[in-house]
Amino acid sequence: MTAPAKPGTPASPLSSPLATLTGVGPALSEKLHKLGLDKVEDLLFLLPLRYEDRTQVLRIGALRHGMRCLVTGEVLLAETVFRGRRSLLVRIGDGSGQLTLRFFHFSRAQQAQFQPGAHISCFGDIRLGPAGFEIVHPEYRLLREGQSPVLYDGLTPVYPITEGVQQGRMRNLVGQALRMMQQSPPVELLPAVTRDKDGMPALAEALLYLHQPPRDANLEQIADGQHPCQQRLAFEELLAHYLSLRNLRDLTTLEAAAPLKQGQSMVDEFLASLPFKLTNAQQRVCKEINSDIARPHPMLRLVQGDVGSGKTVVAAIAALQAIADGAQVAIMAPTELLAEQHWHNFCDWFRFLHIEPLWLSGSQRVAAKRQTLAALEDGSARLVVGTHALFQEGVSFNNLALVVIDEQHRFGVHQRMALREKGKQGKLHPHQLVMTATPIPRTLAMAAYADLDVSVIDELPPGREPVQTIAVPEARRPEVIERVRSACQSGQQAYWVCPLIEESEVLDFQAAEVSFEMLRSALPGVPVGLVHGRMKPAEKEKAMRLFKEGKTRLLVATTVIEVGVDVPQASLMIIENAERMGLSQLHQLRGRVGRGAARSVCVLLYKQPLGQLAKNRLAVLRETNDGFVVAQRDLELRGPGELLGTRQTGLPQYRIADLLRDAALMPKVQIAAEALRSSGTRAGDAIVRRWLGDAGRYGKV
Ligand code: ADP
Ligand code: MG
Repeated sequence: MTAPAKPGTPASPLSSPLATLTGVGPALSEKLHKLGLDKVEDLLFLLPLRYEDRTQVLRIGALRHGMRCLVTGEVLLAETVFRGRRSLLVRIGDGSGQLTLRFFHFSRAQQAQFQPGAHISCFGDIRLGPAGFEIVHPEYRLLREGQSPVLYDGLTPVYPITEGVQQGRMRNLVGQALRMMQQSPPVELLPAVTRDKDGMPALAEALLYLHQPPRDANLEQIADGQHPCQQRLAFEELLAHYLSLRNLRDLTTLEAAAPLKQGQSMVDEFLASLPFKLTNAQQRVCKEINSDIARPHPMLRLVQGDVGSGKTVVAAIAALQAIADGAQVAIMAPTELLAEQHWHNFCDWFRFLHIEPLWLSGSQRVAAKRQTLAALEDGSARLVVGTHALFQEGVSFNNLALVVIDEQHRFGVHQRMALREKGKQGKLHPHQLVMTATPIPRTLAMAAYADLDVSVIDELPPGREPVQTIAVPEARRPEVIERVRSACQSGQQAYWVCPLIEESEVLDFQAAEVSFEMLRSALPGVPVGLVHGRMKPAEKEKAMRLFKEGKTRLLVATTVIEVGVDVPQASLMIIENAERMGLSQLHQLRGRVGRGAARSVCVLLYKQPLGQLAKNRLAVLRETNDGFVVAQRDLELRGPGELLGTRQTGLPQYRIADLLRDAALMPKVQIAAEALRSSGTRAGDAIVRRWLGDAGRYGKV
């Protein structure tokens, strides 16, 4: 059974199905398929998890706790003992020391093998037991008189395996694949200039080394992923993903969009009506957006800006350009609370221009919704603000030219693609602006957002004082309440944030409702409001309005206020159970204060004892207010999956590369990619195909 060669791919034995290997029948094929292994080549890219050293016998006297090694010795004593459970203890010695082999499961026959005087070799994890060094359940072999143990030339690879595929079987299959590779090496796809510059080994050489490293290989370096052979493979893989995303980006230049260029005078009017001047960073980003949307191809731009950097007004300016052109704009926010706040903002901002934004959300009354839908369909509505309901069945636009997605920090390439398709009208795609307050460190953004253009608002409006952040143990809650009282009485406003809305026995969080009652009775005379995710939209809106108008001075809230909420007078924030929250989330929450002129304080209330990770998180927040620094630290503490929302968004899993560990490769990857793209050859396509398959994975929506 051999697969026909794919068009354009030279038929290589490495691309044949695994069934061509000796010992692989349908049942094993199926099991390997579950591991994502279909072709012979796939085995080559399945790198060992670690290695075992069976190249030499270690003297017992030289053993250390934590080693995994081969030793030989003579059985001195074998006995079964009952200490809690029955076990067989075999003591061996080699003249340099003694070692105990401990078995919890053993047969009578096994027991009989360990006659004093017998010679054995054994392999396993050395640990310090009650009576010196021991190995629990070693692999062992009896040696005949004068026989020496089997020694390997190189280190033994240990592969990630699945149920039903034995380690030995896996080694055998990879061994066959490696022999095939040596007979017909895979095509070297990295250009020589790229490899030579960094002295990168050839692909086949790197693979062979990592599967069968020599006995003197630097295993620590390999464990850290820093070996040149690993770096070379990671480089090619990152390059493949990057190229694939760039290809996707190129596709949009083949697509049509309405060029928007009529809006300048309306924008000028709007700017003149604002009580502030745009920051330089805001102006720069507006210019970038401007030149994007003036083109007849869809914009695909991500605006990154720390909390409070003023992204909303940038979105408003983009919206005006579309409106001035007679087209429609949809602004989408991830929560009702935030969408509603935007809606109010846009209503206020655009009133004098006689632009009336419409509202659309899932929980809206049927009649009102029907009206909005009709106005979107017949084109009488220019601007609509809402939640993801905007892009559900039954919504059709008349001439949608711009989609703005706010505060989307979990937004993968597939969603970006899907949204573009949904907004499509005839041949025209809408321009797309994505705004996020969770900045992604530059090198990571290069890898994850190569299909987008990225703008950064790297400046806060003037006069913002950094938020002072302090961490306080829960035991000092009364002091904190006192602080809230005096702040509220001296005319300030405060948030009290609780992570969950109902008392949960499992999670032992403070419930917002409980805190609300507690604070109300502790703070007589202070008007307290409550907002949480389970309230009806109208109740939520009312609670927010009362707070915004200053009628309530303290707002008890769940993390629904995490994104976007903007009440500049609030200058104190208390966050309960801060130790349970992620770094980016805490930074987002903290961003709700420090928006006005008053000096703001954020109090992180935590339960003792603090774990190391939580300790680190709180320390980062105390030290910096800079969202980019926070993001970098978050990345280091949690890894890129969490930061990019990999799980939710189906961001690709890498076979060898690790976005955090290998981020430093990205600038070089980018250079190599651009060189390949402008070389006029198909070499880049082959790299994408090798690592991502024929579909290039990202191309699929
Ligand atoms: P974010 O980037 O977090 O979405 P917002 O758009 O909510 O920030 O803006 C935060 C606050 O700063 C708002 O009250 C907004 O009106 C105000 N703001 C925006 N730009 C400026 C500016 N250039 N100067 C002063 N205040 C500004
Ligand atoms: Mg915002």
